[in-house]
Amino acid sequence: MEDNRMPVLFLGHGSPMNAIEENQFVQGFRDIEKEIPRPRAILCISAHWFIKGTKVTAMALPKTIHDFYGFPHELYHIKYPAKGNPELANKVKDLLSPYEVELDYDWGIDHGAWSVIKHLYPNADIPLIQLSIDISKDAQSHFEMAAKLSSLRDEGVLIIGSGNIVHNLSMVDYDNFSKDNYGFEWAKEVRERVNSCLLNNDFTPLIEYQKESKAFSMAIPTPEHYLPLIYIIAQKQEGENIRLFNDKMVAGSLSMTSLIISFR
Ligand code: ZN
Repeated sequence: MEDNRMPVLFLGHGSPMNAIEENQFVQGFRDIEKEIPRPRAILCISAHWFIKGTKVTAMALPKTIHDFYGFPHELYHIKYPAKGNPELANKVKDLLSPYEVELDYDWGIDHGAWSVIKHLYPNADIPLIQLSIDISKDAQSHFEMAAKLSSLRDEGVLIIGSGNIVHNLSMVDYDNFSKDNYGFEWAKEVRERVNSCLLNNDFTPLIEYQKESKAFSMAIPTPEHYLPLIYIIAQKQEGENIRLFNDKMVAGSLSMTSLIISFR
């Protein structure tokens, strides 16, 4: 049974430009795909669907959403034509009960999802649904709710969280965007602390991140890019390992740290 269980991924998505650029992070996404059995479907928890309430996309043909401003035209023309999976959406709704989940027919595939998933599955031939992050819940509630999804892994569903552990856009050092692994001291402090908690299976500080040092309030000024990580660590089962990849800082105040959870 363990052999059939899908790994789980948290992907640091960074700039939307990663959708069209060729760089080490994009290569990291492609490399990790090679380790994963072909999924039957993908369930993505994206930082960019942070709303009141929990919704799951339930349309048969989700549209590609270009939810960013001021980027090159090329980026607005990208389509990621993966199909939806209404049956899986209903299943997610049932699994999360008694939490209230609304079937959604308005959203689609936002750039938190497609800008990274397109590197894993460029042919868009795996059905993809998204689950929103409820703005009104705290990290503990997100963790408890997310744990109810873990059985999907035994049914060939790849659960992907897409965000960034360190994400402070107001502090981005644009002059040093291409400098390799460049992080401010507070950003590096948070990255080290989070990585050590992840690798030591010590999830309580990650859930109670607001009790951590002042550096955390700079790294996580708003929770939407951090909370997808909580959805992912909630999937970890006894005996599984966490392995980091793309573990680098960008432009001082962003981290691209990504991880895979599996038995390997
Ligand atoms: Zn983002």
